[in-house]
Amino acid sequence: MKVWLDGNLVDKADAKLSVFDHGTLYGDGVFEGIRAYGGKIFQCQAHMDRLFLSAKKIRLEIPYTKQEIVDAMMQTMAANGVVNGYIRLVVTRGEGTLGLGPNRCPRGSVFAIADQIELYPREMYEKGMPVIIAKTRRTSATMLDPSIKSLNYLNNIMAKVEALDAGVGEAIMLNEHGEVGEATGDNVFIVKDEAVLTPPPSAGILLGVTRGVVLGLAGKLGLAVREQTIMPQDLYGADECFLTGTAAEIIPVTKIDNTSVGGGKVGPITLRLTKAFHEMIREK
Ligand code: PMP
Repeated sequence: MKVWLDGNLVDKADAKLSVFDHGTLYGDGVFEGIRAYGGKIFQCQAHMDRLFLSAKKIRLEIPYTKQEIVDAMMQTMAANGVVNGYIRLVVTRGEGTLGLGPNRCPRGSVFAIADQIELYPREMYEKGMPVIIAKTRRTSATMLDPSIKSLNYLNNIMAKVEALDAGVGEAIMLNEHGEVGEATGDNVFIVKDEAVLTPPPSAGILLGVTRGVVLGLAGKLGLAVREQTIMPQDLYGADECFLTGTAAEIIPVTKIDNTSVGGGKVGPITLRLTKAFHEMIREK
């Protein structure tokens, strides 16, 4: 495997960052998880815009243009024969010295990995996935802007650990007000009375690229779509529930804690949206 690292394609074994990189020392950096289908980068512009906005918000200068980053991803895909796969694009604060100050790091480091990813077992896409509601609350938006896709995932990892302890693959996180926020690496949707509902940005969530695509597709299918505050009891009482994310795509949820959703079966609107999503990918 070849990894693109600061301008060069290097062997996986040589793709190393300094232990003094503030990405390693402090989780200081930003990233994107991106899909490629049929050799093309899916939602490329949206990912590049979010990457550069995340970096700007943490005042990290990316030492490449958007086009150079896109070229780097294409090179990495080509070098690894990845046509349908997943790209992890990471920008760290770069090598510095001990001490938090980003001013200790003269230049950010950028790397791109092109590989395969399978977050959840295939059969769960057909049968649905059980999840829990985590006790770990999502970091408040007043403390850290959740629209920054940063290298600090410990909050989400603690919720993921709860999920694994409970024997399920994913956890839904509430915000500090007890409202539904997002899953540890995915956005949350429910269907109630044929309306497609998802928490608003003010719930303190990452504005997922897939979330945006699914909202658009639901509109095109003529479904009622609303960003709306969702409470845990709305999850339990939902007709359907599903999660969206670049790696996960659209994954149906059929059980939340001990409550089955939609009679424990994947619902018709989830199926319609999934079909439309795959058609969109094929067309593009
Ligand atoms: N929320 C969180 C916390 C995430 O990390 C992600 C991405 N893995 C998402 C939502 C989904 O975003 P996207 O659709 O852009 O992958």
